[in-house]
Amino acid sequence: MSIAENLEKIQSTLPEHVQLVAVSKTKPNEQLMEAYDAGNRVFGENKVQELTGKYEVLPKDIEWHMIGHLQRNKVKYIAPFVTLIHGVDSKRLLVEINKQGAKNGRVIDVLLQMHIAIESTKFGFDKAELLEMLDAPEFAELQNVRPVGLMGMASYTDNEAQVRSEFASLKSLFDELKASHFSDASFKEISMGMSGDYPLAIEEGSTMVRVGSAIFGARNYA
Ligand SMILES: *Cc1c(COP(=O)(O)O)cnc(C)c1O
Repeated sequence: MSIAENLEKIQSTLPEHVQLVAVSKTKPNEQLMEAYDAGNRVFGENKVQELTGKYEVLPKDIEWHMIGHLQRNKVKYIAPFVTLIHGVDSKRLLVEINKQGAKNGRVIDVLLQMHIAIESTKFGFDKAELLEMLDAPEFAELQNVRPVGLMGMASYTDNEAQVRSEFASLKSLFDELKASHFSDASFKEISMGMSGDYPLAIEEGSTMVRVGSAIFGARNYA
């Protein structure tokens, strides 16, 4: 199937409150343009250099999401234009995004990444760490960065019950934080679900799915 057909098929299964982020990492601009011409405007990339390169040459009404692990020294390159940073996993990164937001006269929307998988290799806060950051006085002073929700990646496994329970844990933490720290309506996103598990993620409360290979085909890292 073509990229346009893949997009249409996936979009037709998404509830209205779920946003599709088309993950275009490693894919050439021509393929992004195929998705663009089919109406897609939200793209996700996981490398700063690739993201800025694509931003520079592709249409300016694209919303770019940074979905990968972000190093502090690279925030400055995406701060002028990025729509949403999914993978904020430390206080130092949040502080840096705030600083670059101020330099660019922007408030940058971010998602706080939680460690929900069994694998220790995956990034993200654990709950205690997150609460410590949110309760620190400096947190309230960050005026140029705005957490609009949580992001998580489930374990890479065929065990559906395991994946489901990891998604459910992110949703329940979201509900808890919404009540305790983020009463503002802008805190509303739960970014979870990829090509292999997005239907499950939606059942467990996802509002944003990051889908790559199911749209663009398998990636070739060679
Ligand atoms: C690559 C990537 C995706 C998309 O993965 P697919 O399995 O191709 O859908 C989603 N989220 C993150 C953080 C990624 O790096």
